[in-house]
Amino acid sequence: MQCKNCGSNNPDTNNYCGNCGAPLGSASTLHDLMAAGFLKAGDSITCKVKGEEVDATILEDGRVQYGDKTYDTPFLAIEGIRGYRCDSWSCWKARGPEGKVKPLHLLRVAMAKGR
Ligand SMILES: [Zn+2]
Repeated sequence: MQCKNCGSNNPDTNNYCGNCGAPLGSASTLHDLMAAGFLKAGDSITCKVKGEEVDATILEDGRVQYGDKTYDTPFLAIEGIRGYRCDSWSCWKARGPEGKVKPLHLLRVAMAKGR
C-alpha cells in the first residue's frame, strides 16, 4: 500500500508507514480535503521556515507548488523546503478568506466529523 503522506510503498500488512509513521489507509490527503470543499486549487498554505513565513500553493491535483518545484504531498513539500521532516499536517496552515490561518490537521478533523 502506498503511503498517502510520503508516497513510499509499504507491505499491505502494515498499519503504519515504515518510512514516516503515518497511518496507512485512513489518512486523508489534500485532494480529499479539496473534494470535501475545505480547500480549493489555488489556495495558499503557509508554514514557518527559520522564522520566516513561507507560502506554497495547492494545485488542481492536490499537489503542492513552492517556487518552481512541485511536491506530491505537504509532507514532501515541507521536507523539501526545510530540509528536515516534521508533522507536516500541523506545520502547514491553510490561509482562509480573512487571512485567518488554520492548521491542515484541523481541517482533517473537521472533515472526519462531517462524515
Ligand atoms: Zn509514509
